[in-house]
Amino acid sequence: MDPKVEKLKEIIDESENIVFFGGAGVSTSSGIPDFRSADGVYNQQLNRKFSPEELVSHSYFVRYPEDFFDFYKEKLVYPEAEPNNCHKGLAKLEKDGKLKAVITQNIDGLHQKAGSENVFELHGSVKRNYCTHCGKFFDEDYVMDSDGVPVCDVCGGVIKPDVVLYEEGLDPDVINGAVKAIQNADTLIVGGTSLVVYPAAGLIDYFRGKNLVLINKSSTPADNAANLVINDDIAKVIGEATGLE
Ligand code: NAD
Repeated sequence: MDPKVEKLKEIIDESENIVFFGGAGVSTSSGIPDFRSADGVYNQQLNRKFSPEELVSHSYFVRYPEDFFDFYKEKLVYPEAEPNNCHKGLAKLEKDGKLKAVITQNIDGLHQKAGSENVFELHGSVKRNYCTHCGKFFDEDYVMDSDGVPVCDVCGGVIKPDVVLYEEGLDPDVINGAVKAIQNADTLIVGGTSLVVYPAAGLIDYFRGKNLVLINKSSTPADNAANLVINDDIAKVIGEATGLE
């Protein structure tokens, strides 16, 4: 085993309150592209007049709902995706009583699909959708199966995915829960995130525990603060460190 993964295993063994904070890189091995890698959504030929940030902004959703859902269904929702060894390893650590929370910027629901229970979804989830008029909730299939803009079967209102778009604020209860979990952690494992999307990236500043571990394919602004940095595939690293591989 790679000495750094060995070290991570030791840290996990000696920790009693681990929190994981992750981003899009956690799900790339499940076939969901991230935003900022070379083959990420931001670097693909989108053939659209607007930047990716504009395409996933609140004002774009309101102004051009047809285009929004066209992009959303094609690039942001992956109903067939399955959890990889990162999701599965973290769920195992929670069952073992070692890991207390997963905090994710992802919207794909794969941590829950792997069995994680205490998950803070900072940016919401594609699995939940609601009518902007009457509030009725709809599942992912309803949105994906509808032609063009999905509308409510009760009142005809436009349905919005329960995901945080650019220009929208994060849910204060989710943020508070995530902050508390990080403040109580003895080990914080951060992975698969470029740590450039705020306010989510600022959450790691609340960590006061012993071990800050960073697992990411590329370097991040927090590398200097970490006592262990592993630049490798997070599915492989967490899979090995939790005994799945
Ligand atoms: P990002 O695209 O900015 O960064 C992803 C990071 O993960 C990069 O630094 C990359 O080097 C790293 N990475 C990619 N694959 C990896 C792997 N297998 N192992 C280790 N590292 C890997 O993503 P972000 O920081 O999460 O921020 C982008 C925003 O995009 C988030 O707010 C998130 O909501 C959203 N997003 C979510 C999904 C999803 O739900 N799966 C997918 C794309 C984007």
